[in-house]
Amino acid sequence: MVADSQPGHIDQIKQTNAGAVYRLIDQLGPVSRIDLSRLAQLAPASITKIVREMLEAHLVQETEIQEPGSRGRPAVGLMVETEAWHYLSVRINRGEIHLALRDLSSKLVVEETLPLPLQDPTPFLTRIITHIDQFFIRHQHMLERLTAIAITLPGIIDTENGIIFRMPFYEDVKEVQLGETLSEHTGVPVYIQHDISAWTMAEALFGASRGARDVIQVVIDHNVGAGVITDGRLLHAGSSSLVEIGHTQVDPYGKRCYCGNHGCLETIASVESVLELAQVRMNQSMSSMLHQQPLSVDWLCQAALKGDLLAKDIISGVGTNVGRILAIMVNLFNPQKILIGSPFNQAADILFPAITDCIRQQSLPAYSRHIAVESTQFSNRGTMAGAALVKDALYNGSLLIRLLQG
Ligand SMILES: [Zn+2]
Repeated sequence: MVADSQPGHIDQIKQTNAGAVYRLIDQLGPVSRIDLSRLAQLAPASITKIVREMLEAHLVQETEIQEPGSRGRPAVGLMVETEAWHYLSVRINRGEIHLALRDLSSKLVVEETLPLPLQDPTPFLTRIITHIDQFFIRHQHMLERLTAIAITLPGIIDTENGIIFRMPFYEDVKEVQLGETLSEHTGVPVYIQHDISAWTMAEALFGASRGARDVIQVVIDHNVGAGVITDGRLLHAGSSSLVEIGHTQVDPYGKRCYCGNHGCLETIASVESVLELAQVRMNQSMSSMLHQQPLSVDWLCQAALKGDLLAKDIISGVGTNVGRILAIMVNLFNPQKILIGSPFNQAADILFPAITDCIRQQSLPAYSRHIAVESTQFSNRGTMAGAALVKDALYNGSLLIRLLQG
């Protein structure tokens, strides 16, 4: 084929193959070259060549594997070498920036959480770059070779070009060229992803949905959204779009949403909206336990678990509203698993049955019968979501090729 002789195409094949081999070594290692050849469906000579390059770059290392019961010479196995390579994972959310240095096995080296005020005279881009520079200066003595920077945040993002169009909470953010600026500044690739999408990837790679091919992950927090994994791949991974269930209309006569619509799920199920509703309903129910402490998500969940009728009703109301939209998604995507990531998971015993009942009643029985509704393993804070972006770039070969080329 003519296309095969084009260098761009060959580079793409090399990248894909290297990524696939690295993934097998990372997930199965120690693994022999013969097994790699069989599992990756690549000729032994190709495996030898790829592995040689990875050994030279200190991305993999050799180790002895003694087959059980075998008396012969131990076979040579390959494992990933992770400690000599670091990356920075950054998470920006409402009022905070989390910065973490991790090695290539995603093990944490050092992590910090610092305030990032919603309003500040210094431009957003300058503030982020300054935070990153200062973090590197503070932790220079621990830093091994830096491979990449991964950033996760809420907002409308062009992930391919690293542009943040808009962010909730930070009103001065308009078309910020974060990816390109930071990449030029540091000389390493920068991966930017919507926080919910990246979190969905993290659960699939390291957390509660590991091994599942089809997953819906719903986040109920300051914002409401979902990530969908279909046939092992994140839906819309390379684009700016997200599965915007938060802006699906639940109540046509409901409150106006910042997106311009009325009665969106987010105006009903986000943390702020639920607390607002709880406040209104408390004023009508003086006997509720909720009056005993200042209202918060923690207290609402605790009161519900202690049997307070109003608190229970509010939490199951969240479950019903989310469950109704989830029932439609179940019919579309037929997932094996539904993950819920939310501070309301503290009252999972009330929230999850409400969601499950709704799905059972409103979606196809053949699809909903075996669905498990579970909690995410990670929370909406922290930097594991960024770790997933780096792992993904290693597995698809794009970051790996850069590291091989030194
Ligand atoms: Zn909306």
